[in-house]
Amino acid sequence: MEKPIEINCPKCRTEIPLDDVNPSTDVALCRRCGVTRSFSLLNSAAMIDPGAGPPGTRYERTARGFVAKASVLSWSSAIWGTVTCFFCWTVYGAALGPILRGGKLSAAQLVVIPHMLVGVWLIGATIFQVLGCVRITREDDDLEIFTGIGPVGRRRKLAWSGIRDVHLESRRTGRNNATYIVLDGVNRMSFASSLTEERRRFLLDVIRKEFAGR
Ligand SMILES: [Zn+2]
Repeated sequence: MEKPIEINCPKCRTEIPLDDVNPSTDVALCRRCGVTRSFSLLNSAAMIDPGAGPPGTRYERTARGFVAKASVLSWSSAIWGTVTCFFCWTVYGAALGPILRGGKLSAAQLVVIPHMLVGVWLIGATIFQVLGCVRITREDDDLEIFTGIGPVGRRRKLAWSGIRDVHLESRRTGRNNATYIVLDGVNRMSFASSLTEERRRFLLDVIRKEFAGR
């Protein structure tokens, strides 16, 4: 027999008995605080074990909030990186070889120039695929979503107290389906589409756990 999940009030830590839970209306009542909470949020919070995330993730509570991080690197990105390196090596070799030998590019070789620009973009994208990460940092009411490599990347800020809902959302971009974590409320922000499903799920669970506890 599997042990039923214990649901605790995020404020006073009292266990909420099943009689005070109504999954159909998504309500859990703490009689001690007299406050109702979202059952699904508390439930997903109860399931997550900090520090036991999938490989490539990290989650820590800090003095003023939390930090959760997930790496972008995966098998598919490693294959993508290999293909990119081969492409760039071919294109840059074709262009730079003659130049390094002191010659000039022939008219036919000039066609590689647009390809070189694509190569620059691909190299950037590959470095991100291998070394990039998505990091969520909360310090008091300041939530920062960082997507990038080391100190270089995109930082977006949001008020933690302004968030009303956290969920996953799939969007079609061209021929691909991308799944995002969406923070909804006063402002709306979506991120984490570059992560594997498992790591994205972990970040979602972390946010929900923190969300339930506020
Ligand atoms: Zn309570």
